[in-house]
Amino acid sequence: MASPVAIAAQAGKLLREQALRPRLLAVRSQAGHLTPRRWLNLQEYQSKKLMSEHGVRVQRFFVASTAKEALEAAKRLNAKEIVLKAQILAGGRGKGVFNSGLKGGVHLTKDPKVVGQLAQQMIGYNLATKQTPKEGVKVNKVMVAEALDISRETYLAILMDRSYNGPVIVGSPQGGVDIEEVAANNPELIFKEQIDIFEGIKDSQAQRMAENLGFLGPLKHQAADQIKKLYHLFLKIDATQVEVNPFGETPEGQVVCFDAKINFDDNAEFRQKDIFAMDDKSENEPIENEAARYDLKYIGLDGNIACFVNGAGLAMATCDIIFLNGGRPANFLDLGGGVKESQVYQAFKLLTSDPKVEAILVNIFGGIVNCAIIANGITKACRELELKVPLVVRLEGTNVQEAQKILKSSGLPITPAKDLEDAAKKAVASVAKK
Ligand code: GDP
Ligand code: MN
Repeated sequence: MASPVAIAAQAGKLLREQALRPRLLAVRSQAGHLTPRRWLNLQEYQSKKLMSEHGVRVQRFFVASTAKEALEAAKRLNAKEIVLKAQILAGGRGKGVFNSGLKGGVHLTKDPKVVGQLAQQMIGYNLATKQTPKEGVKVNKVMVAEALDISRETYLAILMDRSYNGPVIVGSPQGGVDIEEVAANNPELIFKEQIDIFEGIKDSQAQRMAENLGFLGPLKHQAADQIKKLYHLFLKIDATQVEVNPFGETPEGQVVCFDAKINFDDNAEFRQKDIFAMDDKSENEPIENEAARYDLKYIGLDGNIACFVNGAGLAMATCDIIFLNGGRPANFLDLGGGVKESQVYQAFKLLTSDPKVEAILVNIFGGIVNCAIIANGITKACRELELKVPLVVRLEGTNVQEAQKILKSSGLPITPAKDLEDAAKKAVASVAKK
C-alpha cells in the first residue's frame, strides 16, 4: 500500500498536470518522456452548474462575456457582497496577474459598479497564474457570484487513483492554499478514503472524512452529505477528478463548494454527450482544433522532427527513440484507427505548417490501417504541398509491400526505413546534415 504522503504527492502531481495542460500531453522534456493527458476540462461555472444540478451547494452566480453583462449580473444578483472570478482552466487565479495590470483573478466587492470596472480589466486580457504558461491565458468569461463569508477553508478532491485501481477521496483541513505545499510540509494533514467502486461510498467513510476536515456537530453531517453527493456526481459524469478548494464553511453554518474543477474521462464521451458538448475548446492551440476537425490529434513539442504516427503508444515510442538517437520531436500527429487518404494529406499540411519542422518521420504500424492508403496519401501530399524537408517513412503491417511499391515508383525523394530504430537514425541524421 502506498503511504498517505505518496498518495497526496501523487494526487497533487496529478492535479497539477491536469491543470497545466488539460487537453494535451504533458511533456517531461528533460527525460524525453510523454504522459498522455487528454481529459476534458470544464470551466468553473460549468462545473458548478453540474454540481448544483446534483444537490451540491454552490453560490448563486451568472456568467458574463462583457463588462456590461458583468455589471448587469451584479445588479441582478442583488447580493450583500459579490465575488468576481476570471474563468480560465487553471488554478491559482486568486494570486494571478492580468496583462491589463490588474492583480488577482478573484475579487470581492459590495459595489456592482466596481464589478463592471474590474470585469473591464479582466475580459480580453491574459491572466497568468502559477499554473498557466508565463504569458497567461486569455479570459473570455467571468463568473459573477454572490459572495459568502468564509469562516474556514478545507480541501476536498475525488480522483481516480491508479495505485488503488479506483476512486480515492483526498481531503485536508488546511484548504484554500496550495495543496502540494500542505502535502510536502504537513503530510499528516492529508487524509484519504479509498472507495470500493462496486460498494460505493459508505456513510462511515463520508463521516470520517468530514471529521478529518474539522467539521463539527451538525456541520459534520452536512459536510458528509455534500461529500457523498460529490462522489455520486463524480461517478455519474465519468469524472477523473473533482476538486473543491476551498470546500468551506460559512459563519451561518453552511458547507459550500467555493471553487470547482472537474476533469472527465475522454473514453466516456459516447455516454456523456451533453457534457462534452460544453467543451468550448477556446483554450486549445488553433492547430489542435484544426487537427481535431480531421479526427487527428496534434501535440506540439519543441524540437525539429515532425512525427506522424498512429496510436498514442507508438507516438511515445517514436518520441523516445528520437531522443535516444540525439534528436528532438517538433510535434506529433496521431492518425488513430480508420484512415482516409484525405486525412494523410491534412496531416502533412498541419505538420509542415510549423516553421520549426526540419524533417518528417512517418511511423505507421498498419494493423487496422491499410499501408497502401497511407502511401497514396503521402505521395499525394508530397506533390501537392511541394514538400521541402526530408521525409523518412517506416511502414509496417497490412499491405506493406504494395505501399512500398507506391512510394518507390513515385520518384519522390522519400527515404524508406526498415524499422523504427532505422527511421529515427535517418531522421536525426537528415536534420544534423543541415
Ligand atoms: P483559485 O485561486 O483559482 O483557486 O480560485 P478560488 O475560487 O479558490 O478563489 C481564491 C480564494 O478567494 C479562495 O481561496 C477564497 O479564499 C476566496 N474566495 C472565493 N470566493 C469567495 C467568497 O465567496 N467569499 C469569500 N470571502 N472569499 C472567497
Ligand atoms: Mn481554488
